[in-house]
Amino acid sequence: MTALLEVEDLRVAYGKIEAVKGISFTVEAGQVVTLIGTNGAGKTTTLRTLSGLLKPAGGRIVFDGKPLNDVPAHKVVSLGLAHSPEGRHIFPRLTITENLQLGAYLRNDKAGIEKDIQRAYDLFPILGERRKQAAGTLSGGEQQMLAMGRALMCRPKLLMLDEPSMGLSPIMMQKIMQTIVELKAQGTTILLVEQNAQAALSLADQGHVMEVGKIVLSGTGPDLLHDESVRKAYLGED
Ligand code: ATP
Repeated sequence: MTALLEVEDLRVAYGKIEAVKGISFTVEAGQVVTLIGTNGAGKTTTLRTLSGLLKPAGGRIVFDGKPLNDVPAHKVVSLGLAHSPEGRHIFPRLTITENLQLGAYLRNDKAGIEKDIQRAYDLFPILGERRKQAAGTLSGGEQQMLAMGRALMCRPKLLMLDEPSMGLSPIMMQKIMQTIVELKAQGTTILLVEQNAQAALSLADQGHVMEVGKIVLSGTGPDLLHDESVRKAYLGED
C-alpha cells in the first residue's frame, strides 16, 4: 500500500541554519502519526514545510501520489492537506460561524458547508452554543476547538495539528485528545505535533521522536510510550 504522505530525507533551512536535517516518515490513510520532541526540534518547521509555507532545501514530499515540493500553500490546501497551526490563528472579531465558514473558502457547495458546520458543532457543542459570539471571547481551549473545526471545514485527507494541547488545562487537553480519537474513528488521518508526549503517544498509531532536526527514534505509540529513553527524556521519569 502506498502511504497518503511520504516524506523522504526532508531538509529545511532558515538561511544558513538547517532546522530539519533529513527526516523520513510516512503517514498511511486512517492513521494518527505523531512527531514529539522538545522545543526547537523542528516539528513546527516540518509542518509548515508540508503546508507549503516554507520551501524544502532538499528531499521529497509526496502527498496522495503528487509531489508537493514546489506547490504553494493555497494549492496544498486544495489538494486536501489542512493545517491547524500552533497558536491557533483564529479571527477574534469574527463570529464562530464566520470562522468556520472561512475554513471552507475553497468550496462552494453551500449545503455541504452547512452540514460540515453542523458536524463541527456536534464535535464541539460549546461552539454551537456560542456560534454568534466573536471568536476572541472564547477560552484558549475553545479557540483550539475552533481552529480544529475550521481546519476540518475543507474536508482534508490529512489534518495536521500543531500542539493542540498547548496552554490548556488538563480537562481541556483531555477533551482535545478525545476529539482526536473521535476523528480517527470517523476515518480522519492526522499528523499530530505535540510536546505532551504522554498524551500524543497514547493515541498514536506511529510516533517519531525529533531532536535538533533529526528523527532519533520511531515506533508504534505504545512501543515509544514504554521505551525507557523516551520515558526518561519526555515523560519525566528518572
Ligand atoms: P516548538 O515546540 O518550540 O515550536 P519545534 O520542534 O516546533 O519547537 P521549530 O519551531 O520547528 O521547532 O524550530 C526549529 C529550529 O528552527 C529552532 O532552532 C528555531 O529556533 C529555528 N527557527 C524556527 N523558526 C525560525 C525562523 N523563522 N527563522 C530562523 N530560525 C527559526
